Amino acid sequence: MDLFEYQGKDFFARYGVPTSTGVLVRDPEAAVEAAREVGFPAVVKAQVQVGGRGKAGGVKLVRDEAEALEVATAILGMDIKGHTVHKVWVEHASDIAREYYVSFTLDRGVKQYLCLLSSEGGVEIEEVAKTNPDAIARVHIDPLEGFTETEAAQLVASAGIEEVSRVGVAKVLLQLYQAFVEGDADLVEVNPLIVKTDGNVHALDAKVTLDDSAGYRHPEWEAYRADMELDGREALARSKGLNYIGLDGTVGIIANGAGLAMATLDVVSQAGGRAANFLDLGGGAGADAMANALEVINTDEKVQAVFVNIFGGITRCDEVAKGIQEALERVELSFPMVIRLDGTNAREGHDILRGLLSDKIRVEETMVGAAKTAVELAKKGER
Ligand code: GDP
Ligand code: MN
Repeated sequence: MDLFEYQGKDFFARYGVPTSTGVLVRDPEAAVEAAREVGFPAVVKAQVQVGGRGKAGGVKLVRDEAEALEVATAILGMDIKGHTVHKVWVEHASDIAREYYVSFTLDRGVKQYLCLLSSEGGVEIEEVAKTNPDAIARVHIDPLEGFTETEAAQLVASAGIEEVSRVGVAKVLLQLYQAFVEGDADLVEVNPLIVKTDGNVHALDAKVTLDDSAGYRHPEWEAYRADMELDGREALARSKGLNYIGLDGTVGIIANGAGLAMATLDVVSQAGGRAANFLDLGGGAGADAMANALEVINTDEKVQAVFVNIFGGITRCDEVAKGIQEALERVELSFPMVIRLDGTNAREGHDILRGLLSDKIRVEETMVGAAKTAVELAKKGER
């Protein structure tokens, strides 16, 4: 689960990482009230899960109530890289002396954590990596040994952090590491980590991804989950218990099994198309799941064709075919459908599907063939 900045700051606060306290609001009048509460100058920050908000005009300093009103009115409702701003975070503006970059991630290749630290924060780290790679210091951390004070001190020195701030920055790195590990995050990124003019070190931004598999030991994550903004399709899919992720292509995907669903996205892309979603029906793939899946995909207006890719293992193809038949009796399709059905009892499954075939409903023998047909149909766009 990716957190919004305000949630990331709440997460940091649990582990003692210093941040500015602030107020989350959803309308301009409340933003003015919040700015008065935190004290001017204040900063109004768009809460969307995408980077580069500052550049897009979604982060602004305000000196008084009139400015707060004007800025909050402009930012709320703004579109930032396809994300609509529904809420803003208002905090007291910090006096910045220095901006650094720090992140903790998993480096799966070496089975260790990786910490990156750069003295060139506040700008896109990808840009620094290109133009000045030496400005990024890195250290691998053995998860069994943990991150030691000595390692933190060495990292801070090798990143070229100015002498007076080294102790303070190293301390915050250790706090962030604790948040990362104890908080079961997959990513913690702070850009910028600032040194204030009073010398205090402080996380000015927060990008946190939590490891959903650890959710069972974090009841406090429920509040984060409740605040997530799902798009309409995802909300509907969740209410129907489907494993669905919305994407922005034109080929709807229905597959049984997460691995097959991923492979289906790949073949659609190899066939020159773009998937409209990821959807894993799970094991059973019966009529209910199929009908629910079709209903969700029907609501996606970008979809021009749907590719149903089923491999019968324990699930038998004739059962799946019956499920498709029953689902089609319940849901009226608004796009053509291409079915690939293979595996246990495939022949019996195809015997059932034969009775359903039309211009709109086709069967292909192979996964690649089905992907090509679905992409062609989607390009024709006869919805
Ligand atoms: P991002 O653009 O989405 O990464 O949003 P950030 O939270 O990182 O803010 C972008 C930039 O706005 C920062 O790099 C700062 O330069 C500036 N900024 C944000 N908050 C403050 C603040 O409290 N005081 C000052 N002076 N600048 C701020
Ligand atoms: Mn940032």
